Amino acid sequence: MLQVETSKKTFIEFSEPTECKIWFASDEQEELVLAVEQLKKSAGQSPRFTFCETPDEANVILIHTNTDAWGWEAVKAIRTKPEHFLKTCLLLTQKHLAATADIVDQVLYWPLSPAVFFEALGKVAQFNEKLARLAEIPNSIGMLGLRKVLLLRYLYTRDPCVLLARRNFQSAAGYTYPLMQLLFNVEAGQEFNIIQSLEESQLLTSKLIDRVHICPFCEHAQINFRELCPNCNALNIGEETTIHHFRCAYVGKESEFKQDLELSCPKCSRTLEHIGVDYDKPAEVLWCNDCKHNFADPKLSCFCLACGKSFDPEDAFVRQIGDLTLTLEGFRAAEDGLLPGHGVISILKKELGFYKKEVFVEYLNLEASRCQRYKYHSTLARLNLKPLDEALGHKDIKNSRRLRNELSTIVNQTFRTTDLFTDLSSGEILIIFTNTDCGRTKVAFERLGESLSKLLNTRLNIEFKLLDLAREDTDLAKFWESLR
Ligand SMILES: [Zn+2]
Ligand SMILES: [Zn+2]
Ligand SMILES: [Zn+2]
Repeated sequence: MLQVETSKKTFIEFSEPTECKIWFASDEQEELVLAVEQLKKSAGQSPRFTFCETPDEANVILIHTNTDAWGWEAVKAIRTKPEHFLKTCLLLTQKHLAATADIVDQVLYWPLSPAVFFEALGKVAQFNEKLARLAEIPNSIGMLGLRKVLLLRYLYTRDPCVLLARRNFQSAAGYTYPLMQLLFNVEAGQEFNIIQSLEESQLLTSKLIDRVHICPFCEHAQINFRELCPNCNALNIGEETTIHHFRCAYVGKESEFKQDLELSCPKCSRTLEHIGVDYDKPAEVLWCNDCKHNFADPKLSCFCLACGKSFDPEDAFVRQIGDLTLTLEGFRAAEDGLLPGHGVISILKKELGFYKKEVFVEYLNLEASRCQRYKYHSTLARLNLKPLDEALGHKDIKNSRRLRNELSTIVNQTFRTTDLFTDLSSGEILIIFTNTDCGRTKVAFERLGESLSKLLNTRLNIEFKLLDLAREDTDLAKFWESLR
């Protein structure tokens, strides 16, 4: 056990002798030698730091540069590779490098005191601990799935667990998440489809920081809001004081009335002397130079600078921009290395709330002993959602609000708030119907099948298995084992 005094006069304890394996890269070779020497000297007293030859063996990446572009490329080379993405990246610099700072874990300013350096490395210990809790990601998840899990794991291992949206005028959405750009290898602004799918699956949640108006034709945020003549839609409008002559009811621009120092009506040639008596100044001070129309409020119109189309402001899409953080479901997916099913299961989860498997088993055992002791019936059901997902496969459930709403209604008619749910990696779900015997559960599922068949216009068979929890011979342990 080794203790290091940090700048905050607290002690960080390290139990592993070589838990920080550092890979060091710099664009200034001479300074690199000096920097490494100094860091090695301060680290030399401790056996828990080693410097590696390649990033492959390292768990800490230390980038030393004073150039933002070089720093960005160096960190990008690390963060775009799934095997390196989660590694702690530290930037060592003398300058403020805004772009690179966004994609590293911490910026360390040179000259660097050993205490600050040790403190930064101290976080790696906590980080490694969190990493050790994570299950292996199965190959079957695919490249996109792998990257989604890595994003969740990035948030899972970082403190604070948040991914900040960054203003970016080159992004079609006006904002970007630089780390996602690297991880998913997309242009700024293309991350939003991925975010949407993760939010749909209830894995991410966002804290609103802005609403961006988006062109409904090309989904670009470069919109010019224009004021037009409400009569002829001309752009050529101007503001000028308006005068209304009571006597002859003529309304015109002040410049038409001005004659030397007097106001004279261009229609009836009378002199206007007293405001409120001879004339007044209406609120309609805008004039169209094309059709001469006079008005108080211009018509607002949107012109997309990206695709050149015009549309009404109320037709613009509004994109919610937020800082991203994990939901409980997201924490779970990060730990398990699995993404929950889409489609039906995401709706069920949203409507009903699912328990973690371990918690569900606790409830199951409790309910079974209650049923056997007090002689009432509860049912454990195992429901296969695959036929339903297949039937929904060709329907765009993600974007069809109507379909989602109708599915939600059916789900809420079938299940009660007292029922308990969990999902299995096979795509099946387990449900405890409290105080309901197998007969009534069967009827409920048959009704569910009928409602869904009607909604989807296809004959749908709901596949399920039921188990009576009141039966003395119910061997839940064996049943549970059979699920694995
Ligand atoms: Zn006009
Ligand atoms: Zn007049
Ligand atoms: Zn457009």
